[in-house]
Amino acid sequence: MPIRDEARRHLVPHFTRSAVWRADDLPVLERGAGCYVWDSDGERWLDGLSGLFCVNLGHGRADLAEAAAEQMRRLAFATNWGSAHPPAIEAARRIAAVAPGDLDHVFFVNSGSEAVESALKLARNYHLARGESSRTKVIARTWSYHGTTLGALAVTGIPAMREPFAPMLWNGVVHVPNTLDAPPGALGAPARDLPCVRAIEEAILREGPETVSLLIAEPVQNGRGALVAPPGYWQELRRLCDAYGVLLCADEVINAFGRLGHWFGSERVGVVPDLITFAKGVTSAYQPLAGVVARRPVIETIWDSPGGSFVHGSTFGGHPVATAVAVANLRALDEEKVFANVLANEASLRARLEDVAARHRCVREIRGQGYFYAVELMADRDSGRDLDEAQTAALRGGLLLQYIREARILIRPDDRGATFMAVAPPLIADPAVLDDLAERIDRICARVDRFIASRT
Ligand code: PLP
Repeated sequence: MPIRDEARRHLVPHFTRSAVWRADDLPVLERGAGCYVWDSDGERWLDGLSGLFCVNLGHGRADLAEAAAEQMRRLAFATNWGSAHPPAIEAARRIAAVAPGDLDHVFFVNSGSEAVESALKLARNYHLARGESSRTKVIARTWSYHGTTLGALAVTGIPAMREPFAPMLWNGVVHVPNTLDAPPGALGAPARDLPCVRAIEEAILREGPETVSLLIAEPVQNGRGALVAPPGYWQELRRLCDAYGVLLCADEVINAFGRLGHWFGSERVGVVPDLITFAKGVTSAYQPLAGVVARRPVIETIWDSPGGSFVHGSTFGGHPVATAVAVANLRALDEEKVFANVLANEASLRARLEDVAARHRCVREIRGQGYFYAVELMADRDSGRDLDEAQTAALRGGLLLQYIREARILIRPDDRGATFMAVAPPLIADPAVLDDLAERIDRICARVDRFIASRT
């Protein structure tokens, strides 16, 4: 049976409309090397999204495969409950060594959603340990994505993802405006006077500071398209959290491990949060691994409380094979100076995308930082005309995905609050790969321009 038919017969896809799953051109990806992958028809694709913001070191690394095989031969499994094992100890040590400030305790899980769940519970456990049992609420931002499990979904601020499960979601989350309307450079006033900052303080006061446990935000927010906060914004988040006894969590599931050219995005925005959630790039996706790195006093407060433990865990959290791969990945990211590659090339990646934008009236804006960008679309930048309902429906309904596929590039057509493409190449992408990336996105934008012209 042809492999696509076999896929459709037994496999249930994630977040995929049935029409896309049933289409004749469904890609079945078989192998990868560097920034490229090959499908079952032998076609070569440029991986412009690092898998899903995660294959930071690129595809086909024999050293990471060998780290996994070696650990499987030595000890395939042990838990982190009541005992420990060398790869988890070493991975935690390495993460602690590069995390900001005194964030030096690591709790491992298997996915970003679980990392967010863990942060919610860790914050709650901490407040309980301090006798502040009324602190349960969480503040998060609109259009943010924090995962799919019910706790993380409650924190997520994307209406279409929440809606089907709304009756099952905990109602202790308050969503405040993201930084879309306060982009870097648009700042005349101090960050503390920005409406999106004031809204956070108002929310804390409205809910009652003694009821608020955690504020969670991404340094660069993926939902709504690579939103970069203005200077001073994160310092304001830190100030507000300190003033009202709220823990600050940077959700760095995408941002960490070099996406913004640093170990952690928090470093780039110059803030020491209380918790950082991470996943994806910690193993460059060669194994599923995620976690929370916490400030020492947070963990010590829990250890020293009458309960004396973080009441949370899972079978595979900090799996020996996954943490062994993390160790090999973290070593390679460091030794191969991968973040220096991002910092050296990020301006030219932006410039290439800006050039594409300048050639096509359908591009509203390029936003992002590091190797993490959004190309937001509209109908006609010159006249300021937005996509109308029919154009939006057609592009989101499959046309944009078709153009992307025909350009043989893996980037993400996104509809979260706008119509845009998410772009995040592997961190090893060199100028030749970035040229290829820009050329393929140029082709896509040309087709969008032609489509809009045909429908105007
Ligand atoms: N948090 C953020 C910021 C994310 O981007 C994601 C996934 O992309 C998650 C949490 C959830 O991670 P996962 O898909 O591994 O559960």
